[in-house]
Amino acid sequence: MAVILLAEINDGALAVDATAKAVAALIVRLAGDYSHIVAPATADAKNILPRVAVLLDAMILTDVTAVVDADTFERPIYAGNAIQTVRSKDEKKVITFRTSTFEAAASTGAAAIETIGAGDNPALSEWVEDKMAESDRPELTSAKIVVSGGRGVGSEENFALIEKLADKLGAAVGASRAAVDSGFAPNDWQVGQTGKIVAPDLYIAVGISGAIQHLAGMKDSKVIVAINKDEEAPIFQVADFGLVADLFDAVPDLAGKV
Ligand code: FAD
Repeated sequence: MAVILLAEINDGALAVDATAKAVAALIVRLAGDYSHIVAPATADAKNILPRVAVLLDAMILTDVTAVVDADTFERPIYAGNAIQTVRSKDEKKVITFRTSTFEAAASTGAAAIETIGAGDNPALSEWVEDKMAESDRPELTSAKIVVSGGRGVGSEENFALIEKLADKLGAAVGASRAAVDSGFAPNDWQVGQTGKIVAPDLYIAVGISGAIQHLAGMKDSKVIVAINKDEEAPIFQVADFGLVADLFDAVPDLAGKV
C-alpha cells in the first residue's frame, strides 16, 4: 500500500497558483502507483479531493473516522447519528480523514523532499489572493479548550463576554450557526455539521440549545460544560457539567475566577 498524504495543501510551492483545479490536476499527475490519496478534512481538501476522485473515476470517501482495513473505512452519517462502514473497490482510494478522532501518531521522521514541476493548470479560474484571519488565539480545530457562544448571547457586543472567558483560559472561540447567522460571530467560528468539527479536552457551550447539527461538531469533546438558563435544553443531555444559569451572570463570574 502506497499513500500520498496531503498534509498542508496550501503550503510552500503549492501556494503558487493553488486553485483547486490546478492542485487536483497535479495530484492526479503524481498519483502513479499510489493506492491511497489522503488528506485531513480541511476546507482546502474538501475542495480539492473530490476533483481528484472525479479525475481518477473513484468514489470520494469523506470524513473518515476509522480505518478497518486498506479497503474498508468508517464515516459518520446523519449528522453523526449513525456510522457507515464503507468498502471501496476503487483501485485508488481518495479519502479525507476527520483528524479530531485520531490520536497524533509518533513522528517517524521526515520524508525525502523532491522537486516537481507544477501540474497542468486548466486555467478555468484564477488565484487572486489568500486572506488569513489574524488571531492570537489557538486555531479552533486544534485548540485544547473551546468556548462557544450561541443565540442566547444576544449580540456581537455581548460576544466580548465569550471572548474574555476564552482569552483567560487560552481557548479558541466558537459559535453556533444561529449566532453566526445573526451576525454575532464570524463565519469561521461556526462549530457543527456545516461548520468546523472540534474535539478539544474542554468545550464550554454558552447560550447554545444543543441542536443535533451543533452536536455533530463538538460531541466528541472530552469534557463538555454547558451554561444555559433553560434546564430542559438538550445540550444538558451531552454535557458532563451543566450550569442552569443566566449567562450574563455566570460567564463574568467564571471569568473572574480563572
Ligand atoms: P437556539 O436554539 O435559539 O438556542 C439558544 C439557547 O440560549 C437556548 O437554549 C436558550 O435557553 C439559551 N439562552 C438564551 N438566553 C440565555 C441567557 N441569558 N443565559 C443562558 N442561556 C440563554 N447549527 C450549528 O450550531 N452548527 C451547524 O453547523 C449547523 N448546521 C446546520 C445544518 C443544517 C442543514 C440545518 C438545518 C441546521 C444547522 N444548524 C447548525 C442550526 C441548528 O439546527 C440550530 O438552529 C442552531 O444550532 C441553534 O443555535 P443556538 O443553540 O445558538 O440557538
